[in-house]
Amino acid sequence: MDEAALDQAFRALKTVLGARATRAKAHRIGYSRDWSPRHSSHIDLPDIVVVPKTTDEVVEIVKIAYRHRVPVVPFAGGTGMGGGVAAWKGGIAVETKGFDQLLELDEANMMVTTQAGITIWALNEELARSGLWFPHQPESKRACTIGASIGCDNDSTFGLRYGKILDYLSNVVMVTGKGEALRIGRRKAAFSSTGYKLLDLVVGSEGTLGVVTEATLRVFPLPETRLVRGYVCRSLDDGLRSLERVLAGGICVESAHLNCRQRLHFYTHAYREKYQREPDIPDWAEAILFLSFAGDEDVVNFSLEKATRILLDHFGAEETKEQEMVDGWWASKHSLDFIPFRQKWPDSQREKKFGAADLGLPIGRVEEAYQRFLEIASKWGQDILGMTVYNEAPNKPTASISFAVFVDDSSEESVANFYNYVKEMSAMALEMEGTMSSYIGDGDRLGGFNELEHGDSYIYMKRIKEMFDPGGIFNPGKKFESRWITGA
Ligand SMILES: Cc1cc2nc3c(=O)[nH]c(=O)nc-3n(C[C@H](O)[C@H](O)[C@H](O)COP(=O)(O)OP(=O)(O)OC[C@H]3O[C@@H](n4cnc5c(N)ncnc54)[C@H](O)[C@@H]3O)c2cc1C
Repeated sequence: MDEAALDQAFRALKTVLGARATRAKAHRIGYSRDWSPRHSSHIDLPDIVVVPKTTDEVVEIVKIAYRHRVPVVPFAGGTGMGGGVAAWKGGIAVETKGFDQLLELDEANMMVTTQAGITIWALNEELARSGLWFPHQPESKRACTIGASIGCDNDSTFGLRYGKILDYLSNVVMVTGKGEALRIGRRKAAFSSTGYKLLDLVVGSEGTLGVVTEATLRVFPLPETRLVRGYVCRSLDDGLRSLERVLAGGICVESAHLNCRQRLHFYTHAYREKYQREPDIPDWAEAILFLSFAGDEDVVNFSLEKATRILLDHFGAEETKEQEMVDGWWASKHSLDFIPFRQKWPDSQREKKFGAADLGLPIGRVEEAYQRFLEIASKWGQDILGMTVYNEAPNKPTASISFAVFVDDSSEESVANFYNYVKEMSAMALEMEGTMSSYIGDGDRLGGFNELEHGDSYIYMKRIKEMFDPGGIFNPGKKFESRWITGA
């Protein structure tokens, strides 16, 4: 970084933000990494941290950064798994949780407009007072913000009923590369056939096109009842086909998660601690499908009974014997009181990090992909944590898959092997007509490979970036470069 430019930018930021602009190392350390596996020698201190509270303040910050050509990296909960917030080219970390106010609850239209730094947890606490909820809920919802959900296009426990963030989003305010606050989207309408769909560009842009400061989102009535059940299946493929059949039968399923046996072991840690025994899963079972149903009690009971009959009668599945195991799994997914470092191993990730290749695949390739995962992981010496298939589009099975391993991030070699593993898994996804990332994003891992995935349209992505961010200041080193994974 050009030190003179940084000094000038810092002085200008001080005049706008006072004590909310700092170069103190103690503050900068808090913005030096996310939850992606990396060795301690590879953490990146931003040069400056700023804590704006309004869109106008973000506008001023970006104007200063543009004038001095200093990078700007939006930072939210810091729970990203791909290095999206890594300031490896230096610059200004923008703490987005400073703008966290709910601006309008429009119950007549079932819309909420909020500043983008609010966490999903806090938004839901506010909505619950009016009997409403925002069902887009990654497990990390206690720390993860609305702005970051838009930024990295993450997924949600309830994706099978409600979809991904774009399914809720009507418009955003985004501060672009010259410090212009743009309202992008379709006001409060659910769809629009006019113009180009710029909102789609914002989703998943990982802070490379601008800082999202406000969002208008659809909200829903809180369901009266929820039931969660587990089914052991003879294969992963059977699990997905049975879900297809349940949905084709007209049943409304709120969430569906298909786990391999190893992954269940990870999720049932709390169960084993509490009951001092392994969950009772038959030897023949290759997969465990968890379904949840929510709504009015009689409808939920009927849906559960009908879905169970389909699974048992048509696919030879069995209901899991212990509801405690199912409840323990659900608690780890949904009620997760995620407080970093206060949880027990393995949830705390103190000893080893959870690392994943997050691939989007055609649903017919899941079984084959699982076998290849076992081979590729063992080739790179990875300690297998297991695979989960998430369903992230309303009312249809989709394969957004987490292929997870434990990474010993105290060893540089182990971290390097993890990224070799991700590289080979990504190549497999493209070979199988899928995508390299379905919910984590490029971060500082995959950008250099986007040309492989997107072919000739990649050049249009570069042009779009230049239009929104002519100074190239927004989150440099992402989308078009890879830091860890090299070579095509
Ligand atoms: C325990 C745990 C559970 C998790 N569960 C899930 C899960 O169920 N589903 C899932 O998809 N992921 C999950 N993740 C990964 C991660 O939580 C999500 O990707 C989440 O969206 C990151 O949110 P964050 O607020 O921590 O964002 P950060 O890591 O701070 O930022 C993520 C990206 O968004 C950009 N960004 C942030 N705010 C803005 C903004 N206002 N404008 C523009 N860009 C912005 C950042 O620059 C960065 O590129 C989990 C992680 C952990 C540690």
